[in-house]
Amino acid sequence: MFIPTNTEHDKLYIVDDNYLEAKLRILLEMKGEIGLIVRMGLYSVLREEELVYAHKKSVCPNLAGCNCDKLHVMNKPNKTSIVLIQWHRGHKKCYFSIIPTNLWQEFRKLPSFDYNPHIKSAHAYIKAKDPILNFMWLRKAHYNVMCRVLKPFEANVLAGRAKTVDAKHYAMYELDSMSKNYVDAWSKFGLDDLSVKQ
Ligand SMILES: [Zn+2]
Repeated sequence: MFIPTNTEHDKLYIVDDNYLEAKLRILLEMKGEIGLIVRMGLYSVLREEELVYAHKKSVCPNLAGCNCDKLHVMNKPNKTSIVLIQWHRGHKKCYFSIIPTNLWQEFRKLPSFDYNPHIKSAHAYIKAKDPILNFMWLRKAHYNVMCRVLKPFEANVLAGRAKTVDAKHYAMYELDSMSKNYVDAWSKFGLDDLSVKQ
């Protein structure tokens, strides 16, 4: 059962857990480079242009107290990484992303990554598997999964839809609990191992 409820923030509530889990299984069966890109879209909740940016931008070796415009990555003991991105374009804001560490590392190893051909191919491949699915659906699925554990407001922080001041608060004080909740949310859908296998 698919009940789309579009709001001003293009949120989509996929109300049925079994439906969502079945669709996630289709997506996570994908292997190779396409599988890696699909996982990045799903687990990072980054927008397409943000994925391209996160692949290209260099990573700063400093962790704390740095104001440079590079990416800053903190690896957590629960096998997730917090990637501080802080890239804003108009109303689209990207503060930070929680990504399984191994997936982030494999993504960064891709020799090239652009909208065309990488995201475009992944999009076509997803649609061919199931016409209801597409690359944008990955963000909606992430939001729905996160809302099983996080408050909708927190899921929006992760999806880059929160106010800057709220996102800064979370980036400074709540990252450990958020990364724990992130892992718990996926495990509610039977996804206990978020690593990517080659
Ligand atoms: Zn820096």
